[in-house]
Amino acid sequence: MPTIDDRREQMFPKLAPHEIDRLRRFGTVRYYHAGEALFVTGEVAPGMCVLIKGSVRVVRRDPLGHCAPIVEQGPGEFVAEVGQLSGQPAFVDVYAIDDVQALLIPPENLRALMIGEPELGERIMRALILRRVALLEAGAGGPVLIGPESSPDVVRLQGFLARNAYPHQLLDPAKDPDAAKLVQQYAPNPADLPLAVCPKGTILKNPSEAELARALGMVPIDDKSRTYDVAVVGAGPAGLSTAVYAASEGLSVVVFDARAFGGQAGASARIENYLGFPAGISGQALTGRAYVQAQKFGARMVIPAGISRLDSSESPFTLHLEDRRLVRASTVVVASGARYRRLNVPNLSNFEGRGVWYWASPIEARLCRGEEIVLVGGGNSAGQAAVFLRNFAKKIWMLVRGPSLTESMSRYLIDRIANLDNIEVLTHTEVVALYGSRAGQLERIRWRNSSTGEETEKPIRHLFLFIGAEPATAWLKDAGIALDSKNFVLTGWDAPSTIRSKSGAGRPLLLETSVGGVFAAGDVRSGSVKRVGAAIGEGAVVGAELHIALANGRVRDESERSASQDAREAASALAVQSPQ
Ligand SMILES: Cc1cc2nc3c(=O)[nH]c(=O)nc-3n(C[C@H](O)[C@H](O)[C@H](O)COP(=O)(O)OP(=O)(O)OC[C@H]3O[C@@H](n4cnc5c(N)ncnc54)[C@H](O)[C@@H]3O)c2cc1C
Repeated sequence: MPTIDDRREQMFPKLAPHEIDRLRRFGTVRYYHAGEALFVTGEVAPGMCVLIKGSVRVVRRDPLGHCAPIVEQGPGEFVAEVGQLSGQPAFVDVYAIDDVQALLIPPENLRALMIGEPELGERIMRALILRRVALLEAGAGGPVLIGPESSPDVVRLQGFLARNAYPHQLLDPAKDPDAAKLVQQYAPNPADLPLAVCPKGTILKNPSEAELARALGMVPIDDKSRTYDVAVVGAGPAGLSTAVYAASEGLSVVVFDARAFGGQAGASARIENYLGFPAGISGQALTGRAYVQAQKFGARMVIPAGISRLDSSESPFTLHLEDRRLVRASTVVVASGARYRRLNVPNLSNFEGRGVWYWASPIEARLCRGEEIVLVGGGNSAGQAAVFLRNFAKKIWMLVRGPSLTESMSRYLIDRIANLDNIEVLTHTEVVALYGSRAGQLERIRWRNSSTGEETEKPIRHLFLFIGAEPATAWLKDAGIALDSKNFVLTGWDAPSTIRSKSGAGRPLLLETSVGGVFAAGDVRSGSVKRVGAAIGEGAVVGAELHIALANGRVRDESERSASQDAREAASALAVQSPQ
């Protein structure tokens, strides 16, 4: 892995005078006296400062008051990291060493620069991303979490910050005297741990993710009167793709995600089947790039912010945020994904991507060649996976909670499985415990027969789960959007609706729902294939269809609205087949 020093040149490039001249139209010249602050940790940074004269010192300062110099920069260099694209708080202090003349480029102009000056923009963007990576590696500038390393709440908050690429540090009071002092002062009761000490000095006791995000200024407060062209719900691959395509084509876009960017893909340690990455790419790296890319084009990211309700009774639509704020948009894209149903085993997430798999492609199959594996599920997807995996695995223990496969699996699969001697079906059986190595690899699985109570433990390194997927559509409950019998969103020809537009009535567009102007993309869509590539492709299609909807003014009128109230029943009658 390249070290910070290896990356130094790309991280701190020097712009030539003629390059600075090209940037002048994006900013205004500002003067700072020696000792004056350009950036203050935790305060919203004014934008990117390109140094014309004088030099600055960049210092990391944690909320406990520890400071360490990072770098000194002089003429031709610039001060910023990726957060300045979207007006985020600074992660460092920056002071003028002597009198400084700088070109200050505010966030909106920095985004315009990336597009208007693509060559320079590419160099600057690379530097901004590398700087964030370095801040993440150093844990500089963000909050300090104080609590025992293994505490589930520490793991929860660390996971939240890491998934959002937010720099932070963890101090264990058992090892760090400063942390121990703070615990004595603020959290004598262990239930108050972990403490989150924020850059501006706020100390939170065992906060929720939303409380921490608010204290850090992660969730921007918007102009309430604004109506966006597009509101995207979900920042997984489908939502991010929609945001990139829509924003790059000039639409005003706001994206909400309840937890973090990346969605399910963010949980994938290595995606090997996404086009263009022959060595594979981690889901967080792939979606992290898309997250920055969407912001470059001006998409507004509001994360974490869950949407609790969509009001589609009037145009523009109104989205209700969980924190009770309201946001209006002319069109809405449902990209809230689906969650694979997970087993109720406490440490399951520790092994996801390290032995616990939710599908069976040749990649996973290769990993379990010649080994015994456990496959949980009694539906057709479980049956198909078992038939496929038996070509690779030495033996498949197929665990089914019910009394047999007959209620849930097609006859042909049941017969095929019965004829395969390396698949053993265990009915009335459930996984009860998972054990792993120090490196986090799944190593042993224990299961129980619920009829006899007998427990079995085996040294097995791969567990395949095919126990269904649940779409994240509860927030659409009152929106009149037609769903299939498993609550996935119906679109296009499957949607029982006629859309009325200024240009006349017609069928919904390919990825439009039964409500005109509301689209769906990715795993949340009925009939979707549950792949990163497909979700991204659907985002691109929606990006194009949004233009048609906005141009046509596609809205529901009263007669159409009552039609879509009946849509749910109609949809059930259609008995649309969804992947389980
Ligand atoms: C561990 C793992 C590994 C995977 N590996 C691969 C792989 O190698 N190759 C592959 O092709 N596919 C893989 N997949 C599948 C792939 O990740 C999904 O198909 C893809 O992420 C679907 O994208 P999406 O944007 O439609 O939905 P999601 O990724 O599910 O994203 C939906 C987002 O919406 C947000 N959300 C939900 N409800 C709300 C709400 N009410 N308000 C605001 N936000 C909300 C969620 O927080 C989430 O971030 C993997 C999945 C998992 C779980």
